[in-house]
Parts: sequence; structure tokens; C-alpha cells
Amino acid sequence: MGIVVQKYGGSSVSDAAAIKRVARRITEVKKAGHDVVVAVSAMGDTTDDLLDLANGVSPLPPARELDMLLTAGERISMALVAMAISDLGFSARSFTGSQAGVITDSVHGKAKILDVTPGRIQSAIADGHIVIVAGFQGVSADTKEITTLGRGGTDTTAVALAAALDADVCEIYTDVDGVFTADPRIVPAARKLDRVTYEEMLEMAACGAKVLHLRCVEYARRRDIPIHVRSSFSQLEGTVVSGSIEDAEHQEKSMESPIIAGVAHDRSEAKITVVGVPDKVGEAARIFDSLAKAQINIDMIVQNVSAAATNLTDISFTLPRADGQTAMSTLAALQAEVGFESLLYDDHIGKVSLIGAGMRSHPGITAKFFTALADAGVNLGMISTSEIRISVVVAEGDVDAAVAAAHTAFDLDADEVEAVVYGGSGR
Ligand code: ADP
Ligand code: ASP
Ligand code: MG
Repeated sequence: MGIVVQKYGGSSVSDAAAIKRVARRITEVKKAGHDVVVAVSAMGDTTDDLLDLANGVSPLPPARELDMLLTAGERISMALVAMAISDLGFSARSFTGSQAGVITDSVHGKAKILDVTPGRIQSAIADGHIVIVAGFQGVSADTKEITTLGRGGTDTTAVALAAALDADVCEIYTDVDGVFTADPRIVPAARKLDRVTYEEMLEMAACGAKVLHLRCVEYARRRDIPIHVRSSFSQLEGTVVSGSIEDAEHQEKSMESPIIAGVAHDRSEAKITVVGVPDKVGEAARIFDSLAKAQINIDMIVQNVSAAATNLTDISFTLPRADGQTAMSTLAALQAEVGFESLLYDDHIGKVSLIGAGMRSHPGITAKFFTALADAGVNLGMISTSEIRISVVVAEGDVDAAVAAAHTAFDLDADEVEAVVYGGSGR
């Protein structure tokens, strides 16, 4: 019998009763004869509460200390889950990310996993223990400091453990029954997908479908590890994330499968416009180089046609809201050198994305998407596309209407409501 890796998210371990329920689920797997390794998130909204505490004492907490603080959340739940398992008569050992051998780079707050050296996990398994690992954290090989993997990072911990342990199964337990055609919190008619390819899931995660952490999907794809996303509150089969859109098998299946996998939305971005940039070679490079050096990820970019009379242009781009202030001060420091006129900041925006492998072979998808948005009275800001995705920036207040309109226009609405949200605050 092989190793089963499971991950339980914050809403699945939100209080003592939930932790006991999860402990029972874990021991069922052990009873069935498998070795079990579990990655846990912090309880409920603990991570947000810790962030609020940090902001209460400092508007810009040092990144190292923030990681020390946030990793405490997962240490609490790992120990409690291990205790609840012991109470059921099984032996469990909890480990921090560092003890579990999760080795990362040294970027606090969004560290990448470089390697997993699971020696301690393997000996604990050999001794018959159920292993509980604190998710979302690791240790930098370079600086020896404790790091975190970015919000939602416990998903990535689970997949990295599954890869390192050559596990048979990697299950991500959450508060909905799987990956749906849209966030069930805003589209009650969303449908559960039985299967979704890595590429489509990557686009969905990158476009705000926080049911899976983006890095977790990247990791799973690279190591070819299928992920089973399911609910810890029901016994239903969830969604299997596996396979590539390039697979011959998938292409055959996709003849009948829907063109669109789903609609994702994201309210975590902001837009910055650099007004009056001199239209000469190298200016855009200078702007984006300074943002890259500040470790800021840019999403969409639009550059206006330069006004002939002035030879000046505007460059707009979107970025994580959390990086908004850093980006504004980084750019302000560049103003004299580049000679742009001013900076505008807008965080009342949202992004709505349509994702589906079938888009590659079906014309007219963009027209249908834009018509649906127009009929819903939604004005489009920026637009960007990939081979299997179309994204638009809209006013933040229009996001729900835009998602619902696109969902209906592409016949994704379920006949009978099947989307249940079992827990979580959606925060
Ligand atoms: P966990 O605490 O278990 O990690 P998250 O809150 O990170 O849970 O992710 C689960 C949530 O993701 C769901 O409650 C749902 O609101 C949201 N979500 C967004 N898009 C989707 C989607 N396409 N399918 C399923 N859930 C989605
Ligand atoms: N507790 C962390 C967060 O809330 C990590 C996780 O839950 O995956 O983002
Ligand atoms: Mg999550």
C-alpha cells in the first residue's frame, strides 16, 4: 500500500470540532492500510487575523518577521490535528516545514520550493506514525531563514510532498466539492468539473480561482502529479487535475467536452498608469526593469498610441494590489530619470477571464464573450489573451454581473444547483 498525501485548508480545520472530523478522516485512510502524510493550513481566518495584528503594530512589517508570525498559524493546526489523531488511538507526529525538509529560496512572503528532503518524514512513516506537516512554509537553503510560500501555499506544500515521497495520491480537501465552472460563491449555478487539464487549471488559478494555488498547479504539471480536489465536508468525488491539452487522448475526448472550462475572477489587482512617457526606445524597459528589481509581478500591459503632437504615451499595467504602494514609490523614484508626467493608481478594478482549451479551434468566442458583457452593461477596460484564455479588466462593482453573464452565455449554468459551499468566509 502506498503513500497518500492529503491537504486540509483553513475552513476544514476551523475549530476543535472540525479538527476532530478531519482527524477521523485521516485515520480512516490509515486503517485502510495506507501511509498518510498530511499538509495543514492555519485554522479558519488565522492568517488574515495575524496579518491584521502585524498591520496594527506596523504599516510595513519587516518581511522576515512577517514570515515568523504567519508560520505560527500552521504550527497551531499541525499540533492540534496530531493531538486529535492521538486521541483516536493512532500515533501522529507533526513537523514544521523546515523539519519536514521543505527547502526554498530566500524570498520572504513568496518563496519558491527548490527541493524537499523528506528524511524525517520517511523515518516517521517507517516508525508507523501518521505525519502532519505545517503547510505554506519552508526554510531558505541560503539564509537559513524561515520563509512562506505566498497566500494559499499549503496546496503547493502538499504537491511538493507528494512528489518527494512518490505518493500514490495527492488529495486537496477544501470547502467546495471540487473545481467548478466558476466560483460557487458568486455563481450558484456553477457546475463541478470531473476533470480539468493542467493548462486550463493553471490559467484558472492565475486568473483568481483560488481553489488551487498557482504554484501548486505548476509543480504538479512539471512532476506530472494528478491532484484530486474535493471537499472535506462530503464523500463526493471531486475534480481530477491531470493531463495536458496536447494529449491525444484529451483531444479526442474534447470533441464532445465543452469548449469553455470556466470563468474566473480576481479582485486582488490594481492598475497603475504612467502618464506622459517620452516615446523613445528603452523607456518601457526602464520602467518594467525597476518593477522587476522590486520583485513585483506585472500582469496585463497596455500602451497607448503616442500623441503625434507631444510624442508622449501612456502605459497602463495591472499588478497585485498588495504590491501597489511599493510599485508607486519605485516608479516615483524614477520620474526625473524617465521624465514621465504623473502616476495614476486605481484599485477599484476586477479581472474576469474566460478559460477553455476549445477556444483554440472555435472561432467567435471573443465576440460572444464581449457581447455577453455588453448585454450585461459591463464596460471593458484592458484586454489580454492567451491561446486558451481571454481576460478583461472591468470596474470592481461589475465583476459578479460579468462572471454570471459569461457563465450563462457559454451554457455553463447547471440545470439543478449542485454547487455547495460548506464553510469558509471567502476571505
Ligand atoms: P482552502 O482554505 O481550503 O484552501 P480556499 O478558500 O483557498 O480554500 O479555496 C476554496 C475556495 O475557492 C472556494 O470556497 C471558492 O469560493 C473559491 N473558488 C474560486 N473559484 C473557484 C472555482 N472555479 N471552483 C471552486 N472553487 C472556487
Ligand atoms: N494559511 C495560509 C493562507 O491563508 C496558507 C494556506 O492556507 O494555504 O494563505
Ligand atoms: Mg487555499
